[in-house]
Amino acid sequence: MRIHSKLILGLLLLLCGITLAIWLTIRLFILPQIEATEVTYRYQDLERVKQAILRDLNRLQSFALDWGVWDDTYHYVQDLNSAYTASNLIGIQLDNIGADLLLISHRDGRILNLVSAGPAAAERVAASKLLDQPRLLANHPFNGVLGQGGSAILDTPAGPLLLAASPILPSGGEGSSRGTLFFGKFVDAVYRQTLVEQIRLPLEFRVEAAGSGASRVTFLSDTESLAHGFMPLLNNPERELCLIIRKDRPFYGLVLRLMNYAVVIILGIGCLVALVAYGFLQLTLIRPIVQLQQQAEALGNGEPLCRPMQRKDELGQLSRSFYQMAGKLEASVGQLETERQQFMDASLTDALTSLKNRRYMEQYLASGMQAADTHGWLLMALDLDHFKRINDVHGHDIGDLVLRQMAALLQELSHQEDTLVRYGGEEFVLICKNVDEQIGCAMAERIRQRVARFHFGLEHAPLALTCSIGFFTLPWGAAGPSLPGWQALFKVADLALYAAKQSGRHCWIGLKSPLQPPASGYPRDGGEIRQALARQQLLSFSSLAADSDIRWPS
Ligand code: GH3
Ligand code: MG
Ligand code: MG
Repeated sequence: MRIHSKLILGLLLLLCGITLAIWLTIRLFILPQIEATEVTYRYQDLERVKQAILRDLNRLQSFALDWGVWDDTYHYVQDLNSAYTASNLIGIQLDNIGADLLLISHRDGRILNLVSAGPAAAERVAASKLLDQPRLLANHPFNGVLGQGGSAILDTPAGPLLLAASPILPSGGEGSSRGTLFFGKFVDAVYRQTLVEQIRLPLEFRVEAAGSGASRVTFLSDTESLAHGFMPLLNNPERELCLIIRKDRPFYGLVLRLMNYAVVIILGIGCLVALVAYGFLQLTLIRPIVQLQQQAEALGNGEPLCRPMQRKDELGQLSRSFYQMAGKLEASVGQLETERQQFMDASLTDALTSLKNRRYMEQYLASGMQAADTHGWLLMALDLDHFKRINDVHGHDIGDLVLRQMAALLQELSHQEDTLVRYGGEEFVLICKNVDEQIGCAMAERIRQRVARFHFGLEHAPLALTCSIGFFTLPWGAAGPSLPGWQALFKVADLALYAAKQSGRHCWIGLKSPLQPPASGYPRDGGEIRQALARQQLLSFSSLAADSDIRWPS
């Protein structure tokens, strides 16, 4: 992956990471906190409803006590006087005190009077079947509780009823009760509406089977919550009054919306920031790195280096260091190349005579034989005669001096373009291109005579030496596609030198190849040379007298 892609990917990952972190923080920490707070508030709402209902029960209770512990009511239960009825019961506005019914019962269970708040209340009272059994209120277990004065919620066929009771006693509150006075209020739509306006909560009532458990809050969705609270029904433990508050979750919804907006905004701003960061990093980091990489590539390809980057930061420093390093590397590579060349030259040069050595000759011939500009070769092998005696008689230092003098002499006698090699010991090889046998004979004769005339050794003690020469010349085009190895050619020249030695030394013998190389290849010993000469596959030349035979090695 290229560095640009890595940078973009890195920035995108960073952006996604930040967005995910914010999203998770809101989801895992903030929203649960909000939910917990909502639950607390919903329980408080339920508690407010319960308190409101209890307040209403208490209010009814206080009315019941007011009326129940009153001499007029006490006497009324006794004599049912019409004055009490006329002044207190007829035309009483129960609505004004938030009651649906006022009921006065005798302690023997008889209903002495029942006043309803209106026709609707009367219907409901009838539907509640409170009065179907006259003794119900007297005998019912709850009457035991309520008869002493108290309040509770009752389960009736007409719906739940808030009922408060007071014993009917004289105003002093002493003596035995003559009956019970009740105030009741049905938990109906009107009551619900009153409560809703009072406590400003979307409240519903329902009577359910008991055992629904304690109050609970559930979230129907991200936007709606449901709270259930329960109040016991005194006369029916198997059922209970269920208070239901169904409320929106505006805060939770708001936070959710804000979270979504925040994620979108963060992504938007993040993209912009990432874009700016990309540009900044591209300018300050990526481009210099790419430049450095190009510099390194240029260095690797041996191309000239550009100027180092003119920056003041670490990358600029790196570029300058790289530039310096490249300069040093270039210098040391040059030095290495020079030294390599020197070693190469040394490995191909004879240390004593400074001529080329045998290794050079091998390379030269191996590569030069393919050269298209070569039409013929002359391979000439030269050897000092009885050189060993020089060493033996005058010492090796004089022997070395003679070898150096011989090398200089041969250089003088050969041309610049010829290749002169010290083949080994006191044997030299001269290689000439495009030289025929006539020139070869002349060169061999010239060398033979100059060596014989030359004063070797020290000036005050000159030494006379002769040399023997063998050469082989051949037109190169004749070799055709089947090029012989140079060793085969050199062997012929060496055999000619050997023959010169055997034929008395201080002479030269040359051999010339025919136009076509023999099918059996070039001669490898004296016998094959003789056969080749006999078949005129080779021609020989020599400095020997016409009547003397060439002694080919056997
Ligand atoms: P011939 O006429 O048959 O060639 O006899 P020669 O004595 O020249 O040949 P031979 O092969 O018998 O001896 C060659 C001698 O050359 C033997 C060796 O000590 C000497 N030689 C070889 N290399 C060097 C060298 O580098 N320096 C000196 N001083 N002598 C060398
Ligand atoms: Mg010799
Ligand atoms: Mg020799």
